[in-house]
Amino acid sequence: MNDTDDKSHSTPRATVDATGEHAFGEALPSPGAPPMVVLAERKRFAERAQRLHQLAERLPAMADYLRFMASVVEAQHRVAMQTRPSLVDSAEVAIKHGVPPLAVDGLWRDMPWNEDLEALLGELDETIGEAQRAWFEALKSRSLAARRELVVAIFEGRALDAESMAMAPLVGAALQVAWTRQARMLPRPPGRPSESMRMLCPCCGSPAVASVIQIGMARSKVRYLHCGLCATEWYAERARCVQCGDSKTLDYCGLEDESGERALPVNAETCDNCHSYLKVMQREWEAGADPVADDLASLALDMMIADRDLARRAFNPLLVLGEPAVD
Ligand SMILES: [Zn+2]
Ligand SMILES: [Zn+2]
Repeated sequence: MNDTDDKSHSTPRATVDATGEHAFGEALPSPGAPPMVVLAERKRFAERAQRLHQLAERLPAMADYLRFMASVVEAQHRVAMQTRPSLVDSAEVAIKHGVPPLAVDGLWRDMPWNEDLEALLGELDETIGEAQRAWFEALKSRSLAARRELVVAIFEGRALDAESMAMAPLVGAALQVAWTRQARMLPRPPGRPSESMRMLCPCCGSPAVASVIQIGMARSKVRYLHCGLCATEWYAERARCVQCGDSKTLDYCGLEDESGERALPVNAETCDNCHSYLKVMQREWEAGADPVADDLASLALDMMIADRDLARRAFNPLLVLGEPAVD
């Protein structure tokens, strides 16, 4: 990660507007303070692909799955370089009025995600394995209307049939590329979300995929929530539930390897007050930890706490819960 690539360096005051709706403070410069909102970094997909290869080496049982996802993310990196029309012309007005400038609800019909999906299908056509060929071909021939239905189902977290479930990570990958590209075009970062919206991305309004304890000059040891859709990061206090704000009933658990050592730089932060959990990626433990990649690699952690009746509130467009989408 390259801190000099960060686009935001300002400290906003969180404010709530008269309606109590999604509100963002105006940025006040404060020298030396960590940035409150940081837009997507240029090398995000390339670094994530590298991380997935690393994780595949480390976790033999998941190696095929993680290598397949690495090839998808490498394709994302190439497709993200392609030019698409800008949808951020009115972003300045949205930011000023405390509205997420890339809100999924308002933009998903206009967002050129289908061009990105076509480009990803083209990129992966040569390398796709036999095990994925059937759903891959079916996705290629799906109509735009059927693809749109799948997009809505992904955003709404609806249950999917087996074929749609296999296709969903690739469709989610196209959504990530489309939103991340537009987020990088924003004239400036929005302010931090208001208290009641703290879990939602200030750029696109999606729930965070995980939080990250950051490293680097400006952000050392500071916690940020990370958007799985547009890769924006925003400040979140440590040791405080990102859902309900409670700090008294938080607990942390992680995965151990066979020798009892920490297996991944990932903990689940569980809250008994609102009965939910979100993963925390510790970049202090491993600089390469990536909120989306390490979330995929730590599925065993979700399974481990599945019987505790805690809701997973994270949104990871590459992940469909249930059976893994690929063998
Ligand atoms: Zn976002
Ligand atoms: Zn809570």
